[in-house]
Formats: sequence, C-alpha cells, structure tokens
Amino acid sequence: MKSSNLGYPRIGEKREWKHALERFWAGELEETAFLQEMKELRLHQLRKQQEIGIDLIPVGDFSFYDHVLDAAFMFGIVPKRFAQQEMSLRTYFDIARGNDTAVAAEMTKWFNTNYHYIVPEWHEAPKLMENRPLRLYEEAKEIGIHGKPVLLGPVTLVKLSKGYESFKGAVEALIPLYEQVLSELEEAAWIQIDEPILATDLSDEEFAVLRAAYTRLRKATNSRLILQTYFDSITRYKEVVKLPVDAVGLDFVHDRGENLLSLQQYGFPQEKYLAAGVIDGRNVWRADLENKQALLEAITVVVPKERVIIQPSASLLHVPVTSKGEALEPILQNALAFADEKLAEVVLLAKGANQAALEASHAALAALSASPVRNQEAVRKAMQNLPAQVERNSPFTERRELQQVRFGLPLLPTTTIGSFPQTAEVRQKRRAWRRGELPDATYQAYIRAEIKKWIEMQEEIGLDVLVHGEFERTDMVEYFGEKLAGFQFTKNGWVQSYGSRCVKPPLIYGDVAFVAPMTVKETLYAQSLVSKPVKGMLTGPITILNWSFVRDDIPRRDVANQIALALREEVEALEDHGIRMIQIDEPALREGLPLKREHWDSYLADAVYAFKLATTAVRDTTQIHTHMCYSNFEDIIEAIAALDADVISIETSRSHGELIAAFETHTYEKGIGLGVYDIHSPRVPKLSEIEHNIARALQVLHPKQIWINPDCGLKTRGIDETVAGLCIMVQAAKRARRQL
Ligand code: GLN
Ligand code: ZN
Repeated sequence: MKSSNLGYPRIGEKREWKHALERFWAGELEETAFLQEMKELRLHQLRKQQEIGIDLIPVGDFSFYDHVLDAAFMFGIVPKRFAQQEMSLRTYFDIARGNDTAVAAEMTKWFNTNYHYIVPEWHEAPKLMENRPLRLYEEAKEIGIHGKPVLLGPVTLVKLSKGYESFKGAVEALIPLYEQVLSELEEAAWIQIDEPILATDLSDEEFAVLRAAYTRLRKATNSRLILQTYFDSITRYKEVVKLPVDAVGLDFVHDRGENLLSLQQYGFPQEKYLAAGVIDGRNVWRADLENKQALLEAITVVVPKERVIIQPSASLLHVPVTSKGEALEPILQNALAFADEKLAEVVLLAKGANQAALEASHAALAALSASPVRNQEAVRKAMQNLPAQVERNSPFTERRELQQVRFGLPLLPTTTIGSFPQTAEVRQKRRAWRRGELPDATYQAYIRAEIKKWIEMQEEIGLDVLVHGEFERTDMVEYFGEKLAGFQFTKNGWVQSYGSRCVKPPLIYGDVAFVAPMTVKETLYAQSLVSKPVKGMLTGPITILNWSFVRDDIPRRDVANQIALALREEVEALEDHGIRMIQIDEPALREGLPLKREHWDSYLADAVYAFKLATTAVRDTTQIHTHMCYSNFEDIIEAIAALDADVISIETSRSHGELIAAFETHTYEKGIGLGVYDIHSPRVPKLSEIEHNIARALQVLHPKQIWINPDCGLKTRGIDETVAGLCIMVQAAKRARRQL
C-alpha cells in the first residue's frame, strides 16, 4: 500500500515560521531574506516527510499565512478595497492583516477546527495570477521530490467565499482557471484536490454543480486526481464515489464510523483508489496499530490492497510538529504522536506493520488506560451518579425578582467581560515568577496591587458590577487546566490558530477533577475592597474541552461532564464565600457545532447539560452570567436559552445590530449584556455609536433585560484606551437611562 500525507504543519519545530513572519512584518527582515528562510523551512519539511518514508508528499500546502487566502490570491479573488494594489507579497499580507487605509478581510473558522481562514471576497471575474502549485512542484523537484500538488477545490473555495452573485456562476468562472493549473501540472503523478465541503450538507443543486465541475476537470489532465474529503463522513457517498476522479479520500477517524459503513454497504468502484485516512490528523494520541490494522482489514475486504493509500484523516496542520522534544511523564509521553510520529505510523501501516510495532503501540495505550490518572475512583462514582435533571431551584422569572431585590441595580447596569489590560509589566512579572526568579509572595502582592488599582478605577468610572481583572491568568483555559487534575502541558505543542498566531492547547489525558479552589482568593480580595458586586470569573466546560486536545478513550461528553463537576465545586466555593454573581464563559460553544445539521441537537444538548451541571447548584439569589463572543446565534438561540443563565453577554458592535434582529423573531426573556463596543481595535468608541447600539436594542428588548458592556475581555487593550472607552460607555448608559 502507498503512504500519503495531506498537509504538513507550517510552523516549524521551533516556530521558525512564526518568527520569520513577525520579523518580516516588523521590517527586521528583508523580503529576499524572508523568502529564503521560508524556502529553507519548506524544503526541510519536504525532506523530513521523505525521510520518514511517505510516498505521496504534499506540495503547495505550505503557506505564508493561510491556504484559503493562497487559493483566492492565485485566482485574483481580492477584496475590492485592495484591487488597485499590485499583486505582491505586501498586498497578500495586507488582505490578511489590513493596512492604514483598508480593513483586513474577514477571518473565520475552518470547518470545525480551531484554525481560522481568510474569507475570500469576490467583486469581479477571477483570473489566474500564477500557477502556484506548479511553482512549488518544480521547487520540490529540484531536491528530487516528485510531490503531490495540493489544491483547494473550486466548490469548497466558492462555498467559503462571499460577495459572488451566484454559486453556480462563481464555480463555473473558476473552472477554466483550474483546468489551466491542472494541465500545466501534467508531470505530477497525483494531484490532491480538497473538497472538505463534501462532509457538510450540500443541496442537490450544489452537488450538480460539483459534478459538472469535476467532469470538466477530469478532461483537463492525465494526472491521477484525488478528491479529498475530511473532518466527517461524506453525506453523498454513492454519488461521490462515482465522480470522474481516480481516488477518493475519506476520513475514517472523525466519520462516526459512517464512511466504513457506506463502503461496506455500497461498495467502492473497482477502478478507483481509496485514500484511507486512518490515522487521526486532529488529535495528539498515538494510534493503537492493532485497531488500525483491524480497520484496514475491514477496508480491504471491499477495496483491494493495491488500491488503498494510507494517510492521516486530515492535514496535519491541526497537530504540533513532533513530540520528540517533550519531557512529559513517560506514560503520557509514550502515548503521544504529533505530526512526525503520525507519519511514521502511516508508513508502518502501509508497509504492513510488524507484530512488535503493533504490540508496542497497543501496550503504550493500555498503560495509559490502566494508569491511576485515568482511573480516579471518585470521578468514576460521580460520573455514575450524574443527575438526570440539572435545574435551578426556581424558574428565571422568580429568580429575577429575588436578584433584583438583592442587588438593587439600576436599569441598564454596566459591567465588563472579565479581563483588564495585561500590560508588558503584568506578563513580565508572571514570567519571572514562573521561572522562579520572583518569590511567590512578591508576585501575589503584585497581583493584589493590580486588582486593587483596577477595582478603584472601576469605581471611579462608575461601573455597576465589577471584576477582579484576571491578571493572574495567561490564558483562560490554561489557567484552569493547570489547577485541575487530569491536564498536562507540553513545552512545544504549538498549532497555528490564524496567521502567525499559534496556540498550545492543554492535553486532557486523565480524569478531570477539582483539587483546590482556583479563583476564590483573587475574587474575594477584590470583593473585600468594595460593596458593589464583584463577578466571579470562570471558563466553562465546553470551552475548556474545545480548546484542548482531549483523550479519546471515553466520549467527549463524559470529559465535559467531568470538567463541569470540577467547576461546580468552584462555583460552590465562590458562593460559600459570599460571591453573589458568577460568570462562566463559553466563547467556544458555537465552534464545537458538528458539520452536519443533523448532529447539532445532540451536541447542544450535551453542552447545555454540562453547563447546567456546573452552574445550577447555586441559590436563587446567586446570579449566573455567561459570555459568548460571537454574534450569529439565531440558529442556536434555543440552546442558549436552555443554559438558563440569568445574564448572557454577547457581541453586538461588530455585527452592527444584526444580532439584535434575532430577538425580533425569538422571545428571550433573560438578561442580555450587549457588547456595545468593539474591543478588538484600539479605537475609542464614540458616544453616539454606543447610544445607537443601545437604542437599537431597546427597540426589541425590554429595558429590564439589557446590560451594557464591551463585547469581550479587555486584556489586549492599553490602559488609557480602556478607561476612555469605559467612561464613554458608562456615560451612554446613564443618558439612555434618563430617556427611559
Ligand atoms: N473573561 C474572559 C476575558 O475577559 C473572556 C474572554 C473570551 O471571551 N474570549 O478575557
Ligand atoms: Zn469574548
């Protein structure tokens, strides 16, 4: 069997990629030097895949920013506001990052991953600017690698774009350009065309357009075409395998077992190759090769071995480069596989793994399964006794009255989302403390001083509900992960999130459990300084889950509930100490939505259950808040309401009131904190803008429901702009109150 890879992480073992980009942007690296560094990195990555023994090595998957932007740029699909600029490297980055005169293109999540792509904006007919895959194919050839060019497919490209008139027209406009690209790639034996959109719900019309497109592309080339899908099972198996391509790539890991079922039920065309994604391209665990061997046996009952290509389930963009440099406890270290290790697994399977390798992988995972971290008796018991119902004592309308009496807040109360500026000084102190250079007591005193400073500042600004400011937290997931049982942190487990921005997700490798209070000290200290309520601030179970690499030996739902049980203890600890409002952030709730609509309900039901498990044990008079950063939630509004949070804060400013429209058609009675200004920009909002947002909300929501706040945490902002913005916000709220 042949081995293949779909895409390799760009960032480099030491994030060389990120550093080169940032030096180039800062003007510290000349363009030629930058291009040279990138080329070396690219070739190094190709050689590495060759050394590991991969037969079909992807070329063209490497990017300076994002592969969707690469495809759009190659086809001249450039936002109108950049269309006058020459098609240079500078323009490429301007589209991604904005410049002095034009705002960046929109960025959004790549399917159900934590990777963000640049949304292509159409405004005129596309044209081929450069045959990028050909250039990169030629480059690889120079070092003796006959690569497999990787292209984003036309249908996915259009579906992810905006600004075109008709879907069909846009795909048709692209076809001649793809034809040219493919025909010029005639030397390439294999070409991979990615159409992950096939794992989502495509309409009949859309599928007809896709079929017509591939019928034409087939004629443009004699190379073997691999139609590649990933992230879930394909919805139209029978039709997809009949498309005029040489190979179909299927994900056999994140497909809920459905691709294998389709294969068994409907068979697979004799003349085609099956590119079988059997190694998990999205998680960090070593594969149990015995299981994988069994999966392959099931596959090869239908497709003869000679026509099976072994590969990861998706591009390895979503996992860190190598686990080699990590020094985790042996039982965990031995159970990890990052990109390089995954490719080695692919090669092993393709060659027909030997018994020793099969046993070694099985033993490594069995050892982790049997280890105490995965067998916490108390967690197991608690999980067996999960309540069927998780409800607050009284319905919202009753709680509202009790809370109103308790807090006596004015109408349109003002608050913030949690974090205040993490200045260079805050970060430097934390680093010094972590390295052991700053004594614990000194660091704690520093954090207290920051809290005090900002409590005083908030009082002066005139906010109604205060926060402690989150100065002790680097990251909203990491902070809790470090304090809960069941988590581990890698040294170098970085993955690209967007542009040069990388994240290092925690590993949830064991049973999650509460160890000791995590936020009580800072919250209580803040509350001791004022009589106004200070909101406790926690990260919710679904966000912790979605922003981590999660063990895959038990259902995700169970892990979410373990986290929820641990947070429940924290909520109770805060309440016991007299904290009256507690916010549990769930900014990642939406991003976990499955690709197919039919699976949404079960995901949302699990998410709602976990959130309620964490939050419903409190008294009626304790007010539960939650926060989500996004604006599009018309389609999940029932689940949002089912969370039964007393107040939810959401984004409003960037969506220009679109969000509020959702409440014109849905009745929602609970408190809503409007993100009346955009914290993602250093710009101080104008009074009139905030007033406009409040007025718009008052058209659809009852004044009793509305809270006034910025649209997210202020951690990335400077001190002056934060204070200025909040003062204007408080002023706007006061003026709006007078007009009620
Ligand atoms: N409480 C967090 C903060 O203010 C929320 C961050 C988020 O929503 N991403 O930083
Ligand atoms: Zn937010």
